[in-house]
Amino acid sequence: MEIKENISLRKYNTFGIDVQAKYFASFDSIEQLQDILLLPNFQHESKLILGGGSNILFTKNVAALVLKNEISGIEVVEEDDQFVFLKAGAGIAWHELVKYCVHHQYAGVENLALIPGNVGASPMQNIGAYGVEVKEVFHSLEAIHINSKEKVVFTKSDCEFGYRESVFKHAQRNQFVITSVTYRLLKKPKYNIAYGAIAKELEVMGVQELSISSIAQAVINIRNSKLPNPESIGNAGSFFKNPELPKTQFDVLKMEFPDIVGYMNEMDKVKVAAGWLIEQCGWKGYRKGDAGCHDKQALVLVNFGHATGTEIHNLSEEIISTVTAKFGILLEREVNIF
Ligand code: FAD
Ligand code: NAP
Repeated sequence: MEIKENISLRKYNTFGIDVQAKYFASFDSIEQLQDILLLPNFQHESKLILGGGSNILFTKNVAALVLKNEISGIEVVEEDDQFVFLKAGAGIAWHELVKYCVHHQYAGVENLALIPGNVGASPMQNIGAYGVEVKEVFHSLEAIHINSKEKVVFTKSDCEFGYRESVFKHAQRNQFVITSVTYRLLKKPKYNIAYGAIAKELEVMGVQELSISSIAQAVINIRNSKLPNPESIGNAGSFFKNPELPKTQFDVLKMEFPDIVGYMNEMDKVKVAAGWLIEQCGWKGYRKGDAGCHDKQALVLVNFGHATGTEIHNLSEEIISTVTAKFGILLEREVNIF
């Protein structure tokens, strides 16, 4: 194994921010990871675990050992009449896993097609899109505890999943390296096309009979038409979470702003579209230097070329202040700031 020094992280984050890592190593097995964690010279270095870098904003050089997870492999570990249990290495690209499931007719992740990043990060924020969250197909995960180097299994309840949340963003933050995730997929699909533009896109595609692959393709088409491709414009998807408000607060706002976009959730709160709030404050399509706000979805902050992480972060601060001033809602960042 090789520990590199002073490595640019530009190609390792989808914002394309050019900062340096003090130390950098990649690993493709649990044993290799444990060997790195046992190296005497690095025992006291902080560690930063990196997947695809698609939910990260670097605002400064990283004074840590960056560990790039490249554990591969997808295998069926169990199946019965109803379910297939699929174990995937944390370093597999999420969309590769979706393609594998579509190909084998395993249902449950088709609405999550084309989300960037890797399997290992999928439980971190309980990735979600188009009415589906990964917790719905999550079975368990294996992780290595960074300090003890021991392997630990997390069940679904251990992960404390919430809306774009898990225990790994809170009590267990930076404590574990997730090495594999096991998903429980359906053999008989339960289609979910009620959300957003999926039904309309299926109509445009001329789909007569629903299938896992047609839904995945509809999601891919919508995403390609709306979201900036990080290969051409740096971004990390939605920069902020959609805030969840008590219904009473939402009703008051609705009187002042009749067009406000909100959806009731299972917790009897109203999830407000943060993109709408940001757009109303005039940020959609905004650009200052190379930092900006996407012109098709204001929730996505972008790097047009050479913006620094601090410039993007400063823009997010300005957005938070204007949204607070206009709506009395405090936006929370979804992207992990380092
Ligand atoms: P990284 O950015 O590398 O890491 C994210 C966090 O997880 C960091 O704190 C990191 O330290 C930690 N981490 C990563 N891997 C591990 C591991 N193996 N063990 C322990 N900790 C780890 N997200 C959604 O939920 N829904 C979407 O629809 C969506 N759409 C997106 C669209 C675009 C264009 C982009 C750029 C991003 C989008 N995202 C979306 C955000 C992002 O893709 C997901 O959050 C994804 O799961 C991040 O994966 P990653 O491997 O890139 O994680
Ligand atoms: P959209 O369809 O324009 O919808 C705007 C917001 O309204 C979304 O954030 C979504 O919340 C919510 N919404 C829409 N229809 C809903 C319904 N029927 N019930 C409940 N909530 C509804 O959003 P978009 O920007 O094009 O994104 C489409 C999907 O991809 C969304 O699910 C979004 O979360 C996901 N996405 C996520 C990221 C990320 O980085 N996290 C980036 C791009 C896209 P939800 O966000 O809760 O779904």
